[in-house]
Amino acid sequence: STPVPAATSDAPASAALLERATRVIPGGVNSPVRAFRAVGGTPRFIASAQGPWLTDADGRRYVDLLCSWGPMILGHAHPDVLDAVRTAAAKGFSFGTPSENEVLLAEEIVARIEPLEQVRLVSSGTEATMSAVRLARGATGRAVIVKFAGCYHGHVDALLAAAGSGVATLALPDSAGVPAEMTADTVVLPYNDVAALEATFAARGGEIAAVITEAAAGNMGVVPPAPGFTEALRRVTREHGALLISDEVMTGFRCSKAGWFGLEGPYAAGAPDLFTFGKVMGGGFPAAAFGGSAELMSHLAPLGPVYQAGTLSGNPVATAAGLATLKGCTDDLYPRLEATAHTIADAASAALSAEGVAHTVQWAGSMFSVFFRDSAVTNYDEARDQDTAAYGRFFHSMLESGVHLPPSAFEAWFVSGAHDDEAIGQVVEALPAAARAAA
Ligand code: PLP
Repeated sequence: STPVPAATSDAPASAALLERATRVIPGGVNSPVRAFRAVGGTPRFIASAQGPWLTDADGRRYVDLLCSWGPMILGHAHPDVLDAVRTAAAKGFSFGTPSENEVLLAEEIVARIEPLEQVRLVSSGTEATMSAVRLARGATGRAVIVKFAGCYHGHVDALLAAAGSGVATLALPDSAGVPAEMTADTVVLPYNDVAALEATFAARGGEIAAVITEAAAGNMGVVPPAPGFTEALRRVTREHGALLISDEVMTGFRCSKAGWFGLEGPYAAGAPDLFTFGKVMGGGFPAAAFGGSAELMSHLAPLGPVYQAGTLSGNPVATAAGLATLKGCTDDLYPRLEATAHTIADAASAALSAEGVAHTVQWAGSMFSVFFRDSAVTNYDEARDQDTAAYGRFFHSMLESGVHLPPSAFEAWFVSGAHDDEAIGQVVEALPAAARAAA
């Protein structure tokens, strides 16, 4: 197959910014997958965004199917969120004291997810999972954490083992700078493999503090849990006195009003003990959370001995943006997101089929991925067994036609409530040429 383009000539302003950026920022980016390493070419420096549209530094417009990697569920600069942010910002940016917006956002989250009694607000998904793991270890007095290959839980040392997208994209098995001791108590199992889970618990059940899982995996591309998998996680952890942490940073408030749990839970064996959230709940600002029962959360400082803190935690502007975004996540939003996503995915599938390009589309609510292989993906090994070069050619053709996909074959595609007929039409029109490029 032909290689992906090495550079793109028609984005001069982005290219010039990248050149400056690479002098002062490693790789020119502040999060690695943004660098287009997997697909080649010049990342577009986005100057502004409105509704479903991104406008780059050269003034070119793209339909946004990245949605900031998930948060922008209502579209960019949604008027209600903008109003909330303006109102909050006019009253001051950060107090370092408790404030009302934190209470409102916590109440909204707790009201949506039935088993939640309390949440602690933090500023990133990484902090949420890191803190949930510490809490699980503190509450159980055990050390071992079980995670699944291909699941990404942020750049937490103990969880950077077989960690999906960013790492898969750069073809690194793990991160340098994470001493072996930091992952010595991390057990990595294949996703969707109940037998491996049961064998691990049979051997080490008494040492395991928690199993952490992406509620539905989105960081090896979208790979939902096989029927019965989450239920098995709940049953096995409960049998052995370990906690179950459901990482809903990506799926939370995205797959349904109550996230993946709203689609799949509660399980016969009970709900997860801890949830983590981020992305949508910040509406594009740094806000994230972890939570569970009041009893479990009482292990956290200042009530209990598990320390956790943050200068900007519960920031009044970020929480205002998150709250306004969640208020916009109404019952009628989700069928609209799914209809938009299905229109795009069906058109992609038809275009790829017409060119004889092997592909499989997988779903979690309105989140989906197009894998460039002909059979279903149930785990990380299968996700990696696809034609990533074909994805790169497809990606660049779409970009040329004004559609910004995730710059990696291992990511979810996201739509927003602002994706209207014009935006959807531009995506659908772009697909046949992209499928020809991929072939
Ligand atoms: N958990 C999951 C499931 C995620 O998808 C991500 C980010 O992509 C994280 C945790 C980390 O969140 P953040 O990038 O806000 O630190």
